[in-house]
Amino acid sequence: MVKEKIKTLCLTMPFKLGSVNCYLIETGSGYILIDTGCKNNRAELVRELEDAGCKPGDLRLILLTHGDFDHTSNAAYLREKFGAKLAMHAEDSLLLERGDMFLSRQRKVNFLVRKLTSILFGFGKAERCQPDFYVGEGDDLSGYGFEARVLHLPGHSKGSIGLLAADGSLFSGDLLENRDKPDITSLMDDMETGKASVERLRMMEIDRVYPGHGEPFPMESFAV
Ligand SMILES: [Zn+2]
Repeated sequence: MVKEKIKTLCLTMPFKLGSVNCYLIETGSGYILIDTGCKNNRAELVRELEDAGCKPGDLRLILLTHGDFDHTSNAAYLREKFGAKLAMHAEDSLLLERGDMFLSRQRKVNFLVRKLTSILFGFGKAERCQPDFYVGEGDDLSGYGFEARVLHLPGHSKGSIGLLAADGSLFSGDLLENRDKPDITSLMDDMETGKASVERLRMMEIDRVYPGHGEPFPMESFAV
């Protein structure tokens, strides 16, 4: 990026589930945080933000790429602590408002699995919240000092988004991942729709991908 600086915050998830990434973008006028990790990452995440120079009042916007617990569990807390605005796609907001990650998915699972998932990730009443506003396809984030636009990329969930910066950096959420190699997510809710989202990305000028899980990678190394 020319003006903006990206800091990758790689946080360890509970139960040996690997790691999850948040991205802190330093703009000319404050900071933007993309995704917020799991509840057990809270202290480390706050420390990382403060070490980067992001103090309460400096964080302008928290963007959630989708509504899953490993990306949203500190959203309510950080919004309050840092005085930030919180935004996500409307089709995933019920996940955050009700703490049920199956609400924006077509695949149905039973009540016990739904309940257990939320308990395992520590997503309780305090973590539930409503975004300040919704973002969708084509929305321009330059008003927040971030030269980027929103891409609606359903597949992993209905309201999954990507953020495409003017320099070709793509924050892909969980549509793409880099666990062993750059790949389409192994946890796709709707494969057909997800593949169509990936095809859209292939038509775009994308330089580097910053995924929800795994190291950032050049788009050209992604060959599915
Ligand atoms: Zn995830």
